[in-house]
Amino acid sequence: MSDNLDSPSQTSTDDPCPKLKPIPMWFQDGTLLIKAQDAKFKVYGGLLSSKSSVFRDMFTLNAGVQEAVLELEDSKVDLSYFSKALHDIDFFLPRKLGHVTPIAIVAGILRLSDKYDVPSLRKRAIEHLSVIYPTTLRAWDRASQLESPHISDHLDAIKSARDFNIPWIRPMAVYHFVSQPLETVFPLLHNSNLSEQDQKQCIRAIRALKVLQMFCGAPMRSAGNRKQCHSWSNCGNVQKNKWNAICNDDGADPLKIRLTYTDGFCSSCQGNIDVHYTREKAWNMVPVLFNDESWSQLETLRNAEIGMDIADNTVGVE
Ligand SMILES: [Zn+2]
Repeated sequence: MSDNLDSPSQTSTDDPCPKLKPIPMWFQDGTLLIKAQDAKFKVYGGLLSSKSSVFRDMFTLNAGVQEAVLELEDSKVDLSYFSKALHDIDFFLPRKLGHVTPIAIVAGILRLSDKYDVPSLRKRAIEHLSVIYPTTLRAWDRASQLESPHISDHLDAIKSARDFNIPWIRPMAVYHFVSQPLETVFPLLHNSNLSEQDQKQCIRAIRALKVLQMFCGAPMRSAGNRKQCHSWSNCGNVQKNKWNAICNDDGADPLKIRLTYTDGFCSSCQGNIDVHYTREKAWNMVPVLFNDESWSQLETLRNAEIGMDIADNTVGVE
């Protein structure tokens, strides 16, 4: 195996995957030496050219060369995972519940499969992202059973949505990111490599989620003021405390489970809140408030690109 791979501390700071280090890709009888940054990989050139039209063209230019060497300007991390996905059919499997590939790896594979024209890998990477960032509330609740990505991973997803034209993943990637406390969101946003357009959308989304959080909390405002209430004083106090907490909350996650809005109230007030519960409505408002297209328009785009309703049909099947 190669001993040319660096420790994380030596990873370049402008590497798109600073949290990851490259994995060794060194086949002793490989036919192609790839150099990227300060790493080397020895892989099978024929395999790469059979999957990638761009590698095929590069090989045509190097026809007759005994031991081909390619120097590429890509991230060594991206290249190592991209090569691994091409050489090992068990490495980057189709998206399934319980099989989670970190977003930084998915984003890297997407970058290079797009650049080097490997449509099957590109599609698989988009399928992964489409499950993590779905277009229905049901799929969102199911996706929450998966291991939660690191907050900075959502920035990778937001950038990928723009760079690779996957707009249907953007609303929930933005939601995931900006629903965190502001003290976490702002340093990451400030130091991100997001476009101005994406940064503006994140700031717009911060405002929108606060409005949505109050919209979701509104039905409980009548608790303690209704004739049917079993305990006016208790429900009145709970309502005031919850509303103050919402107003003072530095983050905003209005799609949190129902209990956030109902626990502590008498059964009569809980029933009334349930009747007016607005989580579904809030879900439908998310993309529009974020300045994106509606869920149905985004689903049409997604189905045209990956050919099936991945989010609803795949998650939870196993
Ligand atoms: Zn009550």
